[in-house]
Amino acid sequence: MVKKCEVCGNNVGVLDQKIKTKDKKYVCENCYDKVFENYNILDLTNWEQAHNFDDFMGLFNDGITIDLKKENKKGKESSKKERANKEAIMLEENQVKREAFKEKRKDEKAERQIKKDEIRKQKEIKKDHIKSTKEKFKNHDALLFDRLSFDPVDKEIMQPKTFTKPFEVIPYSDIVGYTPIERGHSKNKKHGITRAVVGGVLAGGVGSIVGAGTGGKQFEYTDKLGVNIALKDGSFLEAFFIKQETKEGMMVKAAYDNFYRICSLLDGIIAENGHETSQKVEMTNPNDSLAKQIRDLKELVDDEIITQEEFEAKKKQLLEA
Ligand SMILES: [Zn+2]
Repeated sequence: MVKKCEVCGNNVGVLDQKIKTKDKKYVCENCYDKVFENYNILDLTNWEQAHNFDDFMGLFNDGITIDLKKENKKGKESSKKERANKEAIMLEENQVKREAFKEKRKDEKAERQIKKDEIRKQKEIKKDHIKSTKEKFKNHDALLFDRLSFDPVDKEIMQPKTFTKPFEVIPYSDIVGYTPIERGHSKNKKHGITRAVVGGVLAGGVGSIVGAGTGGKQFEYTDKLGVNIALKDGSFLEAFFIKQETKEGMMVKAAYDNFYRICSLLDGIIAENGHETSQKVEMTNPNDSLAKQIRDLKELVDDEIITQEEFEAKKKQLLEA
């Protein structure tokens, strides 16, 4: 189909048909020549691709002539300049952003360092405190029970750091009571130890008062021996001298020595604190039923229902059963 020039209405040439404005309007060579000079087909194409028909008509109506070669060159250069400018601005902006980011990172790093230093300082203070406290306890000839140290001069207890508890120094005045814990058992009923218990029971009173125990002799094996110390705030401290099944012997004897020493120390502290000594003795003796039978028998002797000889015979029988 033959295209018509939008300006003059004449048919456009074959070559002109390839060139149209941005809004797809055709202009003939004659009309172009009235506005443009010094151009080739490439210059025209470049101009057309960047302009609408109205742009051409503006120039046409104003009778303006332009050197298209020059114009295109100028446009190219200005867009080149513009691009360069844009790039420069972008570069600068990026640089500013980078600097700000760097600055921020530096600040954050400094802040982290300050925090780290602070933590290290606190740790050192704590370490120094622990060290000087330990030295003080040593200088005051503190008494060591399990892991607890008792400073008799400043009247304080040092509890070293454990998995569950922090390093702590507790004044004696915080102690409100304690519970002795004594657990054991015998494997062999005929064991001499068992008879010692029975003897004690018959004599009336073993096991009811701490300090009157038999030094572990009531059990062939001691399983647990120590104290739970109750503090004002409801927490407690522990000192254990035996934590697992231990057969009678030097170890048990030594443990009982410590046990009695800490009990009497605690009795003194609690009395000084003005608290009633409220202690419960926790005891487990699998031979209780046997002891009770013998005790009952002893009652029969006391009430003169059976003779001492009959009692001894029955007791022997029970113990050897
Ligand atoms: Zn025309």
